[in-house]
Amino acid sequence: MSGLDLPQLDGYEVDRVPGFRADKEYLCPGCGNPIPPGAGHVVVWPCEQVDLRRHWHQHCWRLAVRRGRP
Ligand SMILES: [Zn+2]
Repeated sequence: MSGLDLPQLDGYEVDRVPGFRADKEYLCPGCGNPIPPGAGHVVVWPCEQVDLRRHWHQHCWRLAVRRGRP
């Protein structure tokens, strides 16, 4: 259910973070800009390496998947 409609990339897990659960600011590795608190976004991590999870704007993650790498 959580993976519904999320762009998937081989070797990575993706999950959605709804706005009500986004309680602090994150820096998106895709564009280098902040994701403000309260903004829905996605969290991505290499399979089996959940400690390497990063928070992405959803559109930035979609672009990363399109080019085939984070
Ligand atoms: Zn971004």
